[in-house]
Amino acid sequence: MRKKESLHKIEYIIEYTDLPAGSHLFEFSVDNAFMQQYHSDPLENNFNIQAEITLTKHNHSLQAVVKLKGTISVICDKCLVPYVYPIETESHLLIEKGNPENSSDEILIIEENDNKINFSQYIYESISLALPYRIVPCEVFDNIECDQEVLKKIKEDLSDKNKSSIFAELLKNKFQQ
Ligand SMILES: [Zn+2]
Repeated sequence: MRKKESLHKIEYIIEYTDLPAGSHLFEFSVDNAFMQQYHSDPLENNFNIQAEITLTKHNHSLQAVVKLKGTISVICDKCLVPYVYPIETESHLLIEKGNPENSSDEILIIEENDNKINFSQYIYESISLALPYRIVPCEVFDNIECDQEVLKKIKEDLSDKNKSSIFAELLKNKFQQ
């Protein structure tokens, strides 16, 4: 297991060739620094995710179970209240040799003579898929409600033409969607 940190590169790599047959557990922490490598815009989601990779090696086959569990910080699209969004995924992967470009959701392909598996791209994509497209916690969770005070204040702000600000304009766009 290695969390490599050079200039702008954090990678999640497992060197597997010397591992004995059987199952092996590897753990990595995924944070903003990792996710930001894939984006030109800064992300403000406060990623705090643990990646657990169980690599199972048999005679000529390699399989991985990738579990991602943690939280990101988001802001309710409706009332702007900060909210912690849970992330939890589990996926099963076959690891084969060949042309890495033919990798898919279920098969991770590494180069013929590669002695390591790089899970970085896979972890990044899995987290991206788990992110909510639109975040309105009160519509998703029974026990969470939008902040009524904030909603009221936003509405007042929008109707007060003299107080028009860039912030209000942004909110207006949000409400018109
Ligand atoms: Zn809300």
